[in-house]
Amino acid sequence: MKTLITGGAGFIGSNLIKYLIERTNYKVINIDNLTYAGNPNSLDPVKKNKRYTFEQIDITNKELLSEVFHTEQPDSLLHLAAESHVDRSIQNPEHFVKTNIYGTYNLLEVTREYLKSFPIKCKDFKFIHISTDEVYGDLEIEEKPFTEESPYFPSSPYSASKASSDHLVRAWHRTYNLPTIITNCSNNYGPFQFPEKLIPLTIDKALEGRKIPVYGDGKQIRDWLYVKDHIRALMEVLKRGIVGETYNIGGNCQISNIEVIKMILDLIEEFLLKNEKKGNLYKLIEFVEDRPGHDLRYAIDISKIKRELQWEPKETINTGLRKTVEWYLSNKDWTQIIKNKFKNKK
Ligand code: NAD
Repeated sequence: MKTLITGGAGFIGSNLIKYLIERTNYKVINIDNLTYAGNPNSLDPVKKNKRYTFEQIDITNKELLSEVFHTEQPDSLLHLAAESHVDRSIQNPEHFVKTNIYGTYNLLEVTREYLKSFPIKCKDFKFIHISTDEVYGDLEIEEKPFTEESPYFPSSPYSASKASSDHLVRAWHRTYNLPTIITNCSNNYGPFQFPEKLIPLTIDKALEGRKIPVYGDGKQIRDWLYVKDHIRALMEVLKRGIVGETYNIGGNCQISNIEVIKMILDLIEEFLLKNEKKGNLYKLIEFVEDRPGHDLRYAIDISKIKRELQWEPKETINTGLRKTVEWYLSNKDWTQIIKNKFKNKK
């Protein structure tokens, strides 16, 4: 089986590709144009594997995408390429519209043309679109978690662009019978995440002894999903997911940003300051003006994927954060390389 992954040099994509190469027999073609968030070093363990191919292509380039489809003739597609940072979408929404909406449209069209040319592939092909719980907007404290039936109320340019791409994917299924599946996941964390997102940013700032910015009062609640749990969920969707369906994927773990930050600082102190007084790192926390339109709470109801694909997360926030902090402490070079690349690209 051959699968095409877009955005495979990013955080979730690189974890997914390593899983596919190291733990399955899939052949993988990675399409990524290596924006600031794409890091080929994350794929070092598999880059020489004969089952792995890398194509540096922008998903807004339809011609090049089409060439890859026709040459490689994949059996499935997992679409992860996206501009993914909410703050950047507020500063410069254009890239989000181009990549997340127009790029997804291109992939849908190229897949449609490909399946017309290779009807033999139609029977089992899956176009899996990886989206976010942010398309549902936010929840009040007393509200029930999002289900697959929750209405769309995106708040930021990022979530609006992902919501638009979800609508396109559903329309291509309904109108052209394209074999699509959508997954909407909650906030991921774990190894190989670019240090602009809350968890790796906190670790990075704490290790440098710099202030850790916290939006508003830090009481925004997220439902944290360990990336390797997410990868297991995507594998189940790839193998057994039903075409036309949507699956919500969450970590069963609602916790406020400020609590997560304090847990990380406690872990860093536990690992690095064995005999010294604990609690000093809390001084680095700096409350800053809240993000415009900041969502209060996300929470995901995972009943459907649990019932239909027998998936549920294995990690708790305690076990997952411990693994994550340990990984960042042991892989400071990885963070440095991606930060340098980012500085040079600015
Ligand atoms: P990421 O920002 O770490 O990686 C995105 C990758 O896409 C990068 O390698 C980048 O180079 C590539 N890319 C960006 N624009 C491209 C383009 N025009 N053409 C080709 N490649 C391009 O993102 P991530 O955190 O790994 O997220 C992957 C997917 O999962 C995204 O679609 C995101 O919306 C979704 N998602 C992520 C989270 C999360 O917490 N990380 C939560 C919900 C949903």
